[in-house]
Amino acid sequence: MKRYSAFAIARAALSGHKTWERAWRNAQPKSRYDVIIVGAGGHGLATAYYLGRNFGITNVAVIEKGWLGGGNTGRNTTIIRSNYLQDPSAAIYEKARSLYETLSQDLNYNVMFSPRGVMMLAQTEHEVRGYQRTAHANALQGVETRFITPREVKEIVPIINLDGPRYPVLGALWQERAGTARHDAVAWGYARACSDMGMDIIQKCEVTGVTREGGRVTGVDTTKGHIGCEKLGIVVAGHSGVMAEKAGFRLPIESAPLQALVSEPIKPVMDCVVMANTVHGYMSQSDKGEMVIGGGTDSYNAYNQRGSFHHIEHTVAALIETFPMVSRLKMLRQWGGIVDMTGDRSPILSKTPLENCFVNCGWGTGGFKAIPGSGWGFAELMARGHSPLCEEFSMWRFREGKFIDESVAAGVAH
Ligand SMILES: Cc1cc2nc3c(=O)[nH]c(=O)nc-3n(C[C@H](O)[C@H](O)[C@H](O)COP(=O)(O)OP(=O)(O)OC[C@H]3O[C@@H](n4cnc5c(N)ncnc54)[C@H](O)[C@@H]3O)c2cc1C
Repeated sequence: MKRYSAFAIARAALSGHKTWERAWRNAQPKSRYDVIIVGAGGHGLATAYYLGRNFGITNVAVIEKGWLGGGNTGRNTTIIRSNYLQDPSAAIYEKARSLYETLSQDLNYNVMFSPRGVMMLAQTEHEVRGYQRTAHANALQGVETRFITPREVKEIVPIINLDGPRYPVLGALWQERAGTARHDAVAWGYARACSDMGMDIIQKCEVTGVTREGGRVTGVDTTKGHIGCEKLGIVVAGHSGVMAEKAGFRLPIESAPLQALVSEPIKPVMDCVVMANTVHGYMSQSDKGEMVIGGGTDSYNAYNQRGSFHHIEHTVAALIETFPMVSRLKMLRQWGGIVDMTGDRSPILSKTPLENCFVNCGWGTGGFKAIPGSGWGFAELMARGHSPLCEEFSMWRFREGKFIDESVAAGVAH
């Protein structure tokens, strides 16, 4: 793989940019692999990457029914933060955030990580107490956050209206090194690095069944034929329940549409991310100038990648209270993804009832930020059979009542 650099761009310019090689090979399946990962979203690709980089396991296929990054990874609003309440969550999200800091260098691919700061507004007394508690917990966990006053909020975000008609701004939880990254680039960067290690990324290949023998997985049936494997990782987000059923077990997971929208591009007005969780809306500004807006999930289970219309109105109406300027913007486009949610709003990174089958899902509305940490931990779990980062996120915690309750930190209503 040629290294990307300023010199490489200059060199390629001399030949009219005709010398660029494909970023990843368009692989066709072999009959057998050491590891098959189902799902070429960020989590699946990161798992494959760290299997190769940290454990030297490179006879790996990542199988994707559509195109890589075409699931939630390419549909999210790119917020990265690690200000979670519970220790296991803070550990994995902070691991991810810190890996994001150097991900462009590690992958030799510009993922445009922008640590512009994430602010979670406190608009009720209850939220003030909750976020103050999170700030204290984060201090103990080594995650840098602080609770800031309304005056500080206004200094950082001049366009904000502190005296909203229903919910005045009473303060905020502020994480200065949180921010955003280019979501497609995260998938593309991992894909390129995996392909360079000799792994096969097989697109337009749907896994239709999981073949088993004596409590073990032997391979997968796909639209391109049967492929055998020693170990199987299921990393399919909104389709986790469907895939688990194919493998013969059930997951405590629900799937629902979550949508986002962008406005027409405008001049720079806001250089951080603001989340207003009481009124269910959040906003940031993209490099192109569009205001990127998201809200809560639809309140019913579904598999359509759209989201219902009334949510657009609800989200925007809520945001206008805190950001009156939004009322002057035109919506440019809207889209949705299918998110996979657990009862405690924490992910599942776990062994399964099948000996050599592992599952990584349940990231719900907030898994983009976790991609590098999740891949790091899940690769370790698949390679070694245990991982400190994943230990608490077993699927059996629901049977044992060891919940990791992050419903408040989740950031959006669901
Ligand atoms: C609108 C929206 C906004 C969001 N905003 C944020 C945010 O700001 N910050 C944040 O941290 N998170 C956010 N998220 C959540 C985040 O996008 C997800 O948690 C994360 O991308 C999940 O990544 P993944 O790799 O697990 O799943 P995906 O990227 O969905 O990848 C799973 C892949 O599996 C494939 N697949 C499914 N079934 C099969 C099969 N049978 N065979 C082969 N392949 C299969 C799918 O095609 C898909 O490509 C948002 C999500 C949405 C929808």
